[in-house]
Amino acid sequence: MDPKEINDKQFATKLIHFGQEIDRTTGASSVPIFQASTFHHFDLDNPPAHDYSRSGNPTREALESYIALLEGGTRGFAFASGMAAISTAFLLLSAGDHVIVTEDVYGGTYRLLTTVLNRLQIDSTFVDMTDFDQVRAALQPNTKAVFMETPSNPTLKITDIGLVTSWAKERGLLTMLDNTFMTPLRQRPIELGVDVVIHSATKFLSGHSDVLAGLIVTKDDSLGRRVKQLQNGLGTVLSAQESWLLMRGMKTLQVRMEASERGAAQLAEWLDAHPGIERVFYPGLAAHPGRDVHAKQSTSFGAVISFDAGSGERARRLMSRVKLPIVAVSLGAVESILSYPAMMSHAAMPRDVRLARGITDGLVRYSVGLEAPEDLIRDLEQALEE
Ligand SMILES: *Cc1c(COP(=O)(O)O)cnc(C)c1O
Repeated sequence: MDPKEINDKQFATKLIHFGQEIDRTTGASSVPIFQASTFHHFDLDNPPAHDYSRSGNPTREALESYIALLEGGTRGFAFASGMAAISTAFLLLSAGDHVIVTEDVYGGTYRLLTTVLNRLQIDSTFVDMTDFDQVRAALQPNTKAVFMETPSNPTLKITDIGLVTSWAKERGLLTMLDNTFMTPLRQRPIELGVDVVIHSATKFLSGHSDVLAGLIVTKDDSLGRRVKQLQNGLGTVLSAQESWLLMRGMKTLQVRMEASERGAAQLAEWLDAHPGIERVFYPGLAAHPGRDVHAKQSTSFGAVISFDAGSGERARRLMSRVKLPIVAVSLGAVESILSYPAMMSHAAMPRDVRLARGITDGLVRYSVGLEAPEDLIRDLEQALEE
């Protein structure tokens, strides 16, 4: 479909007819994989549109315009991993700058800020962003940006995106948001004023636990130019093969999300009623403190649930007994994934910091896949038996 005509279509239609779904030269039903590092100059006086794949590859560019369309931004960029995207986004900042960050941010983002960016004099303050007073109190004369992640990871705390973003705008701060958990189907940060939206596309966007990728979408073109310069300068690009595989997965995003979310809602209710479970973290539960804020800025409660099995020992027992989910780091795939933040994604975090952030020894995270929810529940039931 002509890219100009797609804008007024619904999300499900955009996922399939994103503008480059048919190859213009051959009519092929998918984007060709341009497996080339460089491009011939037929005429030295008229350089080709692409000259070197780090600077631009047609397959990657198809993905980049695809994600920009889905997020409603001006430009999209694809990276070798979610962390490559996050690292690149943070390098919009300079030495001497300060950034306010969601306290229970993804473990890799925490590690980047506290072990790499700190050495470059980019300082960060971690705050509980559910509490707006803490955000305001963290402002320093050199604060240049706010980095949000909502729902946060793994305790699914909710930041009011519109509130924090409008406060940041008034102070001229750059706003960035990690939208991995909700995807552009469910949460639309650019429409709420966010400047830079970031994804670990390794998760729901690719959806099959077979691609490592990251994406950035910028709200305006001038930021887009700066990200482009960083992506090319740092060389954090995604390969043509992986770009193609990611687009392949993204086409089914909506049907996958809808099915996983239905399962997650069932599992959350069941876990919440289970006497052996200490606490369930899921924004869809009535008792979740961020439920109303989340419902205001998102069209679903997502497919990830965290719960406290009571102790480290019980969490380990549960993980050794489950038969359906794979026990692994990661989330957002066709298969359910059970992970143990204390020993996996947040292992790099000092224990006292981890506990202060609610990531207890008994906390496990369940990313609900496409299996029958009844089977997942029966599997959990046998795994939790005393
Ligand atoms: C996985 C993840 C990342 C990191 O992405 P990679 O693709 O693993 O580099 C960043 N943020 C969130 C919320 C994630 O879940």
